[in-house]
Amino acid sequence: MNYKIAVLPGDGIGPEVIEQTLLVLEKVGQKFGHSFQCQKLLAGGCAIDATGSPLPEETLEACKKSDAVLLGAVGGPKWDNLPGDKRPEAGLLGLRGGLGLFANLRPALLNKELRDACPLRPDIIGESLDIMVVRELTGGIYFGARGKRDGKMGQEAYDTETYSVGEVERIARLAFEIARQRSKKVTSVDKANVLESSRLWREVVTRVARDYPDITLEHMYVDNAAMQLVRNPKQFDVIVTTNMFGDILSDEASMITGSIGMLPSASLGEGAFGLYEPIHGSAPDIAGQDKANPLATILSAAMMLRYTMKLEEEARAIEAAVNQVLEEGYRTGDIMSPGKKLVGTSEMGRLVVERI
Ligand code: NAD
Repeated sequence: MNYKIAVLPGDGIGPEVIEQTLLVLEKVGQKFGHSFQCQKLLAGGCAIDATGSPLPEETLEACKKSDAVLLGAVGGPKWDNLPGDKRPEAGLLGLRGGLGLFANLRPALLNKELRDACPLRPDIIGESLDIMVVRELTGGIYFGARGKRDGKMGQEAYDTETYSVGEVERIARLAFEIARQRSKKVTSVDKANVLESSRLWREVVTRVARDYPDITLEHMYVDNAAMQLVRNPKQFDVIVTTNMFGDILSDEASMITGSIGMLPSASLGEGAFGLYEPIHGSAPDIAGQDKANPLATILSAAMMLRYTMKLEEEARAIEAAVNQVLEEGYRTGDIMSPGKKLVGTSEMGRLVVERI
């Protein structure tokens, strides 16, 4: 098969981790008989320097015409003093909005080889951890009505949490579909004891669940979920939740793994289209030094193969290669521990390619 990928290397370590990821994709293409046409485009600080805009029209248009978007990272001190809407990060928001990406998938995966990086006790975490946080991305309080007005105790400000049946239904369906490919359990997180929008959320998720009798659904209040994530994270498989709760819980879940250079993410829209990127930023402190860990971006490409291209075997081949490299003791600086073999960005990429 032939696939078109819009590649946005971005700034800082972005181009370095993307370079290794493209080599991995090339190898997967050779091995499994696919062609990945990768078009490199400007986004973020480098786009500001070249065109004055963090998200040039040409980039957005090319992304829309692709099967998927692969992004490195954007931003850096050079552009920190620009006004909010002119900053590299504004390009990212424009991209997510412009592409209609309503779901954010954040796996919190703790590889057993990296157990020592986990801040939780070994008896809590066991051998490894694998949670998928599915966050609604285009609704809720971040997009609801907001403003300022006079109140009894002086000026007040408000933000509004709004969810429609349609918005909840589509994110719930996605979560159940994902759970089908995993351990078949969904935890829906809300605050239905207080919020009207959460009561609607719970009602709709419960109704959608009837179409997925093979999946176990449980509901949990967000305060309890935050606590359970550190008390007994292994009880979770797929967590589906609102924009704000997901923002907070996905960061909490990913930090349990302790290694930012290892974590991929996906943002999905209608159909199979998606944007795939590591959760880390552009790491200006190590940019251009062959020190960045490319595995989060390489694992993001594996998510792209799984969710957009439906190439499960190919996705697993990448994940298995990453596991093997870690089992053999190779580490970039961010995940280094005594007795392991320190390698740079390009060597880590080469090792993964070799093992596919
Ligand atoms: P960061 O994730 O870039 O870096 C935090 C720390 O983690 C740094 O010490 C860095 O060296 C390290 N690190 C991150 N990724 C690594 C990797 N792959 N391998 C090894 N070490 C890694 O976060 P920050 O320093 O807060 O932000 C730097 C810039 O990135 C800022 O301009 C910020 O706005 C931007 N940013 C962009 C994105 C994105 O593009 N999606 C996300 C977060 C931050």
